[in-house]
Amino acid sequence: MRKQVIAGNWKMNKLMGEATQFVDDVKGQVPSYDQVESVVVAPFPYLPTLVQQAEGTDLKIGAQNMHFEESGAFTGEVSPEMLKDLGVTYVVLGHSERREMFAETDETVNKKTHAAFKHNLVPIVCVGETDEQRENGEAESVVETQVKAALKDLTNEQVKDVIIAYEPIWAIGTGKTATAEDANAMCASIRKVVNEFAGSEPAEAIRIQYGGSVKPANVDELMSQSDIDGALVGGASLQPDSFLSLVEAGK
Ligand code: PEP
Repeated sequence: MRKQVIAGNWKMNKLMGEATQFVDDVKGQVPSYDQVESVVVAPFPYLPTLVQQAEGTDLKIGAQNMHFEESGAFTGEVSPEMLKDLGVTYVVLGHSERREMFAETDETVNKKTHAAFKHNLVPIVCVGETDEQRENGEAESVVETQVKAALKDLTNEQVKDVIIAYEPIWAIGTGKTATAEDANAMCASIRKVVNEFAGSEPAEAIRIQYGGSVKPANVDELMSQSDIDGALVGGASLQPDSFLSLVEAGK
C-alpha cells in the first residue's frame, strides 16, 4: 500500500510573515505522517524558519529547486548539502516552469535526482506534456522519455523512493484539470515504464502524484484513482484551509 504525498508548491508567492502564519495555522492540524505525507514547498529564504517552526510536527518542508553540484562558482544557486543542512526533506526537480523558463533539461534533472539521493533529500521529479504534444498524440512518449531520463543510472532501491509528479503543462495554473480517468491512465503508463525500466518491485513502490489545477473540489476523485499517490498543488495550496482539505483527502 503506497502512502499518499500531498505537496503544496507555493512558487514565488508569500512574504515571510504570511509564510510563518501559514505554517503556524496548519502544523498542528495536518494528519499524522503515517497516514499521509504533508509537504509545504516554499521559497528558499523561508526554508530555515519554516523547518524550525514545523519541527516535531507532521508537516514537512521542501524546496522548489537546487543545483546538482556540491559547492563552487555557481552564483545564485543553492546546493543539495545546503538544503540538507537546513533540515529540508523534499526537493521538487524539473518543474515545467523551470524547464520552460530556466533551461532545465532532462539531463540536469537526472543529475539533480542523483544529487538528492546523495544528500538524503526526497526528490519530487516533475514530468508532463504540453497541450500541443497531447493534441498530436505524443503525450505518453514525451512523458516516457522524461521519466527514463530522470531515473537513468539510479539503483532500484533509489527508484522506489523517487516521487514522480505527473503534471500536464496545459493543466498547471489554468483551471483545466485532466479528468481523473486521464490522469490515472497516464500515472498507470508511468508505472508501466518504471516496470520495464527497473522491474516490478520499484514500479509497485514508486509514488506518482498528479498535479494541475488540483483543488478541494476535485481532489477526492483524483486521489481515489488506483495509480495516483498524491498531488502536487500550486494555487490551491496557498490558503491554510484549502491546504488542509487537500491533505485530508490524501488519508
Ligand atoms: C504546480 O505548481 O505544480 C501546479 C500544479 O500548479 P496549480 O495547482 O496551480 O495548477
